[in-house]
Amino acid sequence: MAKASDDVNQRQSGVGEPYFCEECKRNHTKGKIYKEHLKFAKFKSVDDEVVDDDNKISDLLSKDDIASEEEALSNEIDEIEEENEEKNEEIEEIREEIDEDDLDEGLEDYNDDGNACVEAVKKLPGVGEATLKKLIKAGFSSLESIAYTPPTIIQKESGLGDKTTAKLIKASMEKLDIGFKSAEVVWEYRKNITRITTSSQELDNLFGGGIETGCVVEFFGEFRTGKTQIAHQLCVNVQLPKEDGGLNGNALYIDTEGTFRPERIIQMAEGHDLDYKKVLKNIVFGRAYNSDHQIMLIKEATNLIKEKNIKLIILDSLIGHFRSEYVGRGTLANRQQTINTHLHDLLRLTDIFPDLCVVVTNQVQSKPDVFYGNPTVAAGGNIVAHGSTIRVYLRKGKGEQRVAKMIDAPHLPEGEAVFSITENGITD
Ligand code: ADP
Ligand code: MG
Repeated sequence: MAKASDDVNQRQSGVGEPYFCEECKRNHTKGKIYKEHLKFAKFKSVDDEVVDDDNKISDLLSKDDIASEEEALSNEIDEIEEENEEKNEEIEEIREEIDEDDLDEGLEDYNDDGNACVEAVKKLPGVGEATLKKLIKAGFSSLESIAYTPPTIIQKESGLGDKTTAKLIKASMEKLDIGFKSAEVVWEYRKNITRITTSSQELDNLFGGGIETGCVVEFFGEFRTGKTQIAHQLCVNVQLPKEDGGLNGNALYIDTEGTFRPERIIQMAEGHDLDYKKVLKNIVFGRAYNSDHQIMLIKEATNLIKEKNIKLIILDSLIGHFRSEYVGRGTLANRQQTINTHLHDLLRLTDIFPDLCVVVTNQVQSKPDVFYGNPTVAAGGNIVAHGSTIRVYLRKGKGEQRVAKMIDAPHLPEGEAVFSITENGITD
């Protein structure tokens, strides 16, 4: 080790001159560093003098060497970067291909069914293959979905221009004959409204014969008041034949709290003597991990509804994620705006699919400044109150009993119903 150090000192004078190296018995140039010698240096670095000698070694490298080394390195970096770019391009291409494949598959599905809704969209003036693909991919696969959606949303989600969008909406509205109509026509429409039974006669009566299609129903209440249980029960009941209070359809369950339990579905299915395997199969389940994800799932629902014969959408719960993500007064306006848009997405679904039920649950927040009456109000404030069509407040009664109170419904009287939660689900 001492030898290597001497060698270093010796070589520091007369840089660039040739000399004979005793160490490796070869001719060297002073000031240049040789592999063989580095071994000594490296070995040395284990010693105490490590840091100092590291400096010395780099001092020994001639400027030319450093420059050529740097050049080689920068060339290498350039090569790697080029390779990376090529790879990125490849990835991008593959992604695009996948997207196209998805799209084509989607189109095939619709074509296989000879889907009348898509056919109608196809026939709109100015709708070519490319526009149709964009519309379907964004979930606008029926005249209704185009006619009832604000132009800005269609543009944002499909990537179509504003003129095309405006034309499409106008044409869809004309085809659907949207505009003023007589009350008689509205009555004809309302006569076709069907209902899902809750499995409790009392609760059904509160709703005028069960939970009706074509609107958004909100159940709000404190913890353990039965919101999630009712949601589970409806997923089973929607599958019943019409004569037994069902809609002969399937359910889409969006769970934001992680409280969906297939075992409860099994118990409830058995309560109705149904084959629970079939019942489970007919429930499409989606777990929403945050509010953006929740919003996205609802947007994606449009295509699923037709494909899977969905007649009931459950959103348990509506506000939970928003409440935990938008914290503090400063975010309130933003939060209310986002919830408002989300609620309108839900309401629009019932416009597009009149035989669809949408049921949302909502927590209550305590309102400490109220000293009399009900000290709790639904989370989400006025936005939610105005967005849902029918609102029911749940509270605990004795034991397994729960009380439901009709708070807000355009055509139903205010009233209360008592029901129970048992092992086999909701009953009177
Ligand atoms: P939340 O309103 O918080 O969503 P839930 O709908 O989950 O409340 O209701 C929870 C209540 O449902 C429990 O307190 C219990 O009374 C009842 N419950 C849940 N599972 C069963 C069961 N297997 N058998 C009987 N009652 C049940
Ligand atoms: Mg719950």
